[in-house]
Amino acid sequence: MICFSEAGNVGRVWDVLVVGAGVAGAMAAHGAARRGFSVLLIDKAAFPRGKACGCCLNQAAVNLLEEAQFKIRDLGATPIDRFYLACGGTTAKIPIPSGLAISREVLDMALINHAQKAGAIFMPRTTAQATAGFSTHREVSIVLDGNATSLRAKIVLVADGLGGRLLRDDDGLEIAANSRVGIAGTLDYPANDYAPGIIYMACGKRGYAGLVTVENQSLHIAAALDVHAARDAAGAGNAVAEIICDSGLPVPEGLTTCRWHGAPALTRHRSTLFEKRLFVLGDSAGYVEPFSGEGMAWALAGAKRILPLVEQAVRAWRDELGPQWQKQFRELVGSRQRICRAVTMSLRNRAITRLAVEALKISPALAGPLVRQINRPMATA
Ligand SMILES: Cc1cc2nc3c(=O)[nH]c(=O)nc-3n(C[C@H](O)[C@H](O)[C@H](O)COP(=O)(O)OP(=O)(O)OC[C@H]3O[C@@H](n4cnc5c(N)ncnc54)[C@H](O)[C@@H]3O)c2cc1C
Repeated sequence: MICFSEAGNVGRVWDVLVVGAGVAGAMAAHGAARRGFSVLLIDKAAFPRGKACGCCLNQAAVNLLEEAQFKIRDLGATPIDRFYLACGGTTAKIPIPSGLAISREVLDMALINHAQKAGAIFMPRTTAQATAGFSTHREVSIVLDGNATSLRAKIVLVADGLGGRLLRDDDGLEIAANSRVGIAGTLDYPANDYAPGIIYMACGKRGYAGLVTVENQSLHIAAALDVHAARDAAGAGNAVAEIICDSGLPVPEGLTTCRWHGAPALTRHRSTLFEKRLFVLGDSAGYVEPFSGEGMAWALAGAKRILPLVEQAVRAWRDELGPQWQKQFRELVGSRQRICRAVTMSLRNRAITRLAVEALKISPALAGPLVRQINRPMATA
């Protein structure tokens, strides 16, 4: 850990300053540190911290972690290889390529440690508040434990997630009008009705909820809800219970006393992914609802794909590097996000969802093309 005065040392210019130590930021910090750059990774949260996420790493995400020599299998993650889709009392059982389920408390802390081992410096409880670009460097004003200072870096990577406010919302961030919001929580005991190794996806009238057993045998639940569902049901736990009940799956006990993490409007697009000496990555660059469970794969792939541009930018900033990143990011995740969006929009029609689940119950192989599409390797080179 670095002390406040050392990080903000007047005159110190970091090669790379990464704002946000989620999967995108920690992986980018790791990659930049491996390339020999001085890297400061900051996050407003104290770690370990939970966040709204379904905690399922698909095969593409697992591959990306292992390519970065991250020992994900040493963390006790639960292997997953089946996806049960439930709606209106019918459940389709779909085989999926092997993935892993792991809490974000454990995963994100381990990724930060991995970046630190590569040489990155990590400062938790440090909030980036504003940033400005200059010809030689970028400045970021931060607050740590009530103390304000500013940091300088040749390049800033903004990976502040869905809740991030470092870049002003009017800088090209468009939120879909009918976007759902996210919540997630963990029941600290195994639920007998839910077997490890299976993602249970409950589709209800006002959203969907994924249930999966994570590393310590706890049952983790994440949901995408219509924006007023939690308010109308008098609480997140009740809203999730309604969805699970609608789907016909058993409602686990403890939903109303569970601690829920929230996420703001999920489906969003950012029109510009760069500023002078600054790149945007991860959810902050754009996201769609989590039905396909790909967000972490997209974030990890972006964190890998951006590294050659970061290397060039640290050595000498050129204004064309920003548009290059934007083009590469769109190539990397654009078609995947469009497919995910089309699927989630279709699922909003209950009759279509019921028909799809009936058909998949009879012939799970019908899901094959979509399952292969979601899990195909990401083009990070
Ligand atoms: C309900 C739900 C379920 C999901 N399920 C899955 C799933 O099963 N599988 C999957 O692959 N993906 C899933 N996702 C998506 C996944 O959670 C995200 O895509 C992924 O976390 C993106 O990583 P990130 O690093 O961009 O952002 P995050 O992981 O959100 O990290 C952003 C970090 O930035 C920090 N931060 C924010 N603002 C500041 C600031 N001003 N200064 C300093 N730090 C700041 C935050 O504290 C946070 O730690 C789900 C998402 C939701 C909402």
